[in-house]
Amino acid sequence: MTLNMNKAISSKPRKTATPAKIGFISLGCPKATVDSERILTQLRAEGYLISPSYHEADLVVVNTCGFIDAAVEESLTTISEALHENGKVIVTGCLGAKQDGQFVLQHHPQVLAVTGPNELERVMDNIHQHLPPEHDPFLDLVPAGGIKLTPRHYAYLKIAEGCNQSCSFCIIPSMRGKLVSRPIGSILDEAHQLVEAGVRELLIVSQDTAAYGVDTKYRTDFWQGKPLKTRIFELAKHLGELPAWIRLHYVYPYPHVDTLVELMAEQIVVPYLDVPLQHASPTVLKAMRRPADSENMLRRIEQWRTTCPEITLRSTFIVGFPNETEQDFQQLLDFIKIAQLDRVGAFAYSAVEGATANQLPALVSETEKQTRLQEFMRVQAEISAAKLKQKIGQHCIVLIDEINEDGIFARSTADAPEIDGNVIIPTQEDWGLQIGDFVEVEITDASDHDLYAELILEDE
Ligand code: SF4
Repeated sequence: MTLNMNKAISSKPRKTATPAKIGFISLGCPKATVDSERILTQLRAEGYLISPSYHEADLVVVNTCGFIDAAVEESLTTISEALHENGKVIVTGCLGAKQDGQFVLQHHPQVLAVTGPNELERVMDNIHQHLPPEHDPFLDLVPAGGIKLTPRHYAYLKIAEGCNQSCSFCIIPSMRGKLVSRPIGSILDEAHQLVEAGVRELLIVSQDTAAYGVDTKYRTDFWQGKPLKTRIFELAKHLGELPAWIRLHYVYPYPHVDTLVELMAEQIVVPYLDVPLQHASPTVLKAMRRPADSENMLRRIEQWRTTCPEITLRSTFIVGFPNETEQDFQQLLDFIKIAQLDRVGAFAYSAVEGATANQLPALVSETEKQTRLQEFMRVQAEISAAKLKQKIGQHCIVLIDEINEDGIFARSTADAPEIDGNVIIPTQEDWGLQIGDFVEVEITDASDHDLYAELILEDE
């Protein structure tokens, strides 16, 4: 049977480099047509061929309409025909959104996946799962893991864009909009590709990582046939199954972050929590429009350490925010002395064009800001140095970043690349080791920022 392109198709890996063929049937209004065009464009960009016949296609996509009864009927009949003629069918479009996909599944439980309109990424994700694109090193313009600006052994994995918070010093929500989470299957697919391409550490980033999935109301999606909630806990847990370090960045301190710390205690993700706190004075936090209970924050930090004693806590703070009094600043210093955070970044407040904080009166002078910043950094440097010294004598696993004439430069789970310190193994020998290898070391010394170590060799 021949396919009508305007109405225009395995989970089994293909053995040859023959491009996969998709049959495509587009029903409905011009908006649906535009969705179809976007899907077809993406399919071709990824090297899929579009098949004009059911029998030559490896899989069929039906973009449905659900506006009136006749359109619903036509969509259901078309799905039925595609199932009968080909067998592997993915449904998308307006009818797919009806009853959150259940309407189509009740009529045709054999379909592989159902999505609603305007869901290019989820459609592609479903196609990748059931008909993975084959990487051809001779024809593909990009490597299997994509083009990366980071070294080959670590990569940033972006899970969402935008932010639902309204911190008064920040213009990200107005620039990038509200939170939009990527489909969980698409993220897991990308993570697997990166690890297969040699990545040993995935740095999970977004503007508000712990909020992942809120915008989708934690929608249930499918990955490799398994139902998964679009939620940070499920995402972190499944990423943790990969043979790579999973490091979570920019984690806003929501209550459910406690469940992520449990994953750290179970060594499913790296015991490293990057949780920007910004300040400790309730008055300043309120003006920043941030959670303003630093006593509670201290209790939570204590609880995190009880749950996961090996956790490394990183945070960032702003000093010299408008209206910050000497007393507010002292509260901040008292907080970091009690909290004993492992890693801290600090910035002197500077107005960002468009931020609501610009309307606040009583600016702190530039000189005072710099004085406070230096005092803050002096106090934190002492804390960090003391914490590093406590590690002398400990054994840990490190990931090698660089090998040169000065030695082997590596990082432990406590060190994120580019922002934290190194574990330096001063040796002239490379011991046959390579960048991206994990090795065990004993910590022998510490400076203010870095640790020094000796390799623990297997025959010792
Ligand atoms: S500072 Fe972070 S949490 Fe606050 S609005 Fe900006 S991106 Fe969102």
